[in-house]
Amino acid sequence: MQLKLKEVIPGEGDVKSFVFTPSEAFSWTPGQFIHYTLPHKDADQRGDERWFTISSAPFEGDVWITTRVNSEYSSSFKQKLSAMAPGETIEGDLPEGDFTVDDPAREYVFVVGGIGITPFLAILKQLAHDGKDIRAELLYANRDENTIPFKAELDAFARQHPGFKITHFIGNDLIDETALKAAGSKLNDPIYYVSGPEPMVEAFEAKFKEMGIDAAHSKFDYFPGYDSV
Ligand SMILES: Cc1cc2nc3c(=O)[nH]c(=O)nc-3n(C[C@H](O)[C@H](O)[C@H](O)COP(=O)(O)OP(=O)(O)OC[C@H]3O[C@@H](n4cnc5c(N)ncnc54)[C@H](O)[C@@H]3O)c2cc1C
Repeated sequence: MQLKLKEVIPGEGDVKSFVFTPSEAFSWTPGQFIHYTLPHKDADQRGDERWFTISSAPFEGDVWITTRVNSEYSSSFKQKLSAMAPGETIEGDLPEGDFTVDDPAREYVFVVGGIGITPFLAILKQLAHDGKDIRAELLYANRDENTIPFKAELDAFARQHPGFKITHFIGNDLIDETALKAAGSKLNDPIYYVSGPEPMVEAFEAKFKEMGIDAAHSKFDYFPGYDSV
């Protein structure tokens, strides 16, 4: 399917949201991602394909890619994406993935590194739109307190949903076992969702094994291409 660029919305720091209108109507479950192809001349070794979570919620209709675009270090794919003008198109497959909240009545710990927030944006926006509550704690790690992606939107959601709490971890203040246990102990039989740079998510996967958090109580979403938050 073709997705037509509508606008680009600058976010915190190097975060940008690319808003696309799909050529055909389709829906998705918040938390799913799309495989994109963006052919371009002189593609670098990472090539012309990428996967991005849909950071918009289905009720919004448009498909958002939210990503970091570093002005100095960007891949040729992201340079091409950034150079797109409104009206230009990108090719996308149908949504896939199971990093979704199937039962909002359960309780959750969301463990997020930086841009790994994208699936939760879609999940939380759709819940708010549907008038549903969620009992969850977001443990949110970022390198800089001034460039936390979507901080204002998340704070607004927390104000409107008293069961949703946010704890920030900045720089070397890491989300450790104590923090995981503290969040989990306040909740009833919580499920841990982890999303962020691949090395971070792998480290949590290993830690969960040590802590005895099993596959029925954990889900992981890996963003390759990022070394750290
Ligand atoms: C299922 C799935 C969902 C995903 N969802 C998202 C999403 O919603 N948003 C998202 O952003 N990504 C998402 N990703 C990851 C995405 O596909 C890319 O791999 C990622 O955005 C990195 O993009 P890039 O390879 O174009 O590298 P770029 O981001 O362009 O970075 C290029 C290279 O430069 C390096 N670099 C960057 N800054 C510096 C610096 N200051 N100094 C030195 N080196 C630097 C990077 O480490 C990288 O190696 C997802 C991946 C999967 C598999």
